[in-house]
Amino acid sequence: TPGIRPLVAGNWKMNGTSSALAELAAIAEGFSGGPEANVDALICVPATLLSRASNTLGSGMVKAGGQDCHAKESGAHTGDVSSEMLKDAGAAYVIVGHSERRTDHAETDDVVRSKAVAAWRAGLVAIICFGETEAERRAGKTLEVLSRQIAGSIPNDATAENTIVAYEPVWAIGSGLTPSVADVAEAHAHIRSELKKVMAGQAAKTRILYGGSVKPANAKELMAVENVDGALVGGASLKASDFLGIAEAY
Ligand code: PEP
Repeated sequence: TPGIRPLVAGNWKMNGTSSALAELAAIAEGFSGGPEANVDALICVPATLLSRASNTLGSGMVKAGGQDCHAKESGAHTGDVSSEMLKDAGAAYVIVGHSERRTDHAETDDVVRSKAVAAWRAGLVAIICFGETEAERRAGKTLEVLSRQIAGSIPNDATAENTIVAYEPVWAIGSGLTPSVADVAEAHAHIRSELKKVMAGQAAKTRILYGGSVKPANAKELMAVENVDGALVGGASLKASDFLGIAEAY
């Protein structure tokens, strides 16, 4: 989108121990002096790796992020991690509302919205995810579902600086399947127009990422689609060569 610098964001999910830091260092090294001229980069690592990941990345162009946060700042929430904790550990961004959180932890649009507000409270950029299931697409409900999730998950006061949105069709995540270019274009145009309703004056500047089976082989085609301002990458972000291959689509 004209005037928007794209972002390629990795999501390591529940993958990575100390030994994965070498891969992160390889990502940082490959990114500098190459794709960094044209695109921003971020890797969202497990919370346990965050401080070491941010040490590994240092002050370079690749940023570190978290994958989820609790809505509260602190308290009796065993096992949860707050946005302030992520920030303290070196995160600049946090993913909220990933479909695996919505499914595995029954997160509703209301919960996702409160987590986005929590992200901002700590000074993090929220990456708010949504997307239709396979059944919803088959039933022809994709755009309707996106409208509902956008209205429910994006807080008032979202700006192009504090918020990134990610369209991730649930059936495309980790499956090797992607929507057609025409379907991606339709969904992203719809998202842009829905954002106008919830982010007055900000929608044209807000990054809309596509996520779901992005690989080096399909990145150029997907990233060239109108209103696609980068990628959220799961599996292919675990290997430096794959992640860099996607960043090189720009
Ligand atoms: C994701 O989980 O955000 C994702 C897009 O996964 P994958 O790239 O593996 O489909």
